Amino acid sequence: MSAIQPACLWVVATPIGHRDDLSARAIETLRAVAVIAAEDTRHSRPLLQHHNVATPLVALHEHNEREVVDAIVRRLQGGESVALISDAGTPLISDPGFRLVRAARAAGIRCIPVPGACAAIAALSVAGLPSDRFVFEGFLPSKAAARRSRLQELASETRTLIFYESSHRVAESLADMRDVFGAEREAVLARELTKMFETVLGEPLAELAAHVVADPDQQRGEHVIVVAGRGEEADAKLAEGRRIFAILREELPPAKAAKLAAAISGAARKLLYEG
Ligand code: SAM
Repeated sequence: MSAIQPACLWVVATPIGHRDDLSARAIETLRAVAVIAAEDTRHSRPLLQHHNVATPLVALHEHNEREVVDAIVRRLQGGESVALISDAGTPLISDPGFRLVRAARAAGIRCIPVPGACAAIAALSVAGLPSDRFVFEGFLPSKAAARRSRLQELASETRTLIFYESSHRVAESLADMRDVFGAEREAVLARELTKMFETVLGEPLAELAAHVVADPDQQRGEHVIVVAGRGEEADAKLAEGRRIFAILREELPPAKAAKLAAAISGAARKLLYEG
């Protein structure tokens, strides 16, 4: 096919659920390359068959990426064209491929994106939260203490925050976000995007966390959590909370002073210690 140049690495986005979310250019590219490097060849085969792509596959996942990268770069240097796909969405976005793209670029290989679905961007596009500036945080740490400390680092972030979360941790993570970012902070849970049970819930964190506990169906499937950045109103609450905390600390132990200052001002208790 004339559109395919030899010795290029094509980084091709695949659907995040709905199998027709694969662009015409992606299909054309996947049919034309010499080989497709796929995160899980068994997972990708049905999608490729559905789109009549019969190109050979080679596995490239986080456990073999180091070893496989050299072999793929040698094939590229030998003049073959290679496509990189992951199980869902855009490769490298919380998915393997970083080492391959880096090595290919270092070897002077042209890397060409074939853009398409990405769960983070799909969620942001329907969240109704400010989208002019945002930060993508990927997955939070799985251990509770590390997760809370990561959230603490993000508590003052004013840009919209985007997280990926797995079904068995979504309730815990929302509860931690409520505790660290504050009960009132607006958030959106985007679940099973482009699939049969797609839901997009937008509520303050306290309500969203309670909703997900009360309705276990909301814990099923794949999730993106989009959280509003800290706003001016929250800044005012925090300034007031810190002022009250400073006064109460003169008379009370810090934990008690923080608890009261948080209750009076509406600021998140954990933030009062910072200033
Ligand atoms: N590379 C993918 C992308 O471009 O979005 C992300 C891969 S990451 C390993 C998988 C995570 O993405 C899931 O745990 C979930 O947080 C999110 N995700 C993927 N598909 C989704 C969907 N259809 N609806 C909601 N979240 C999804």
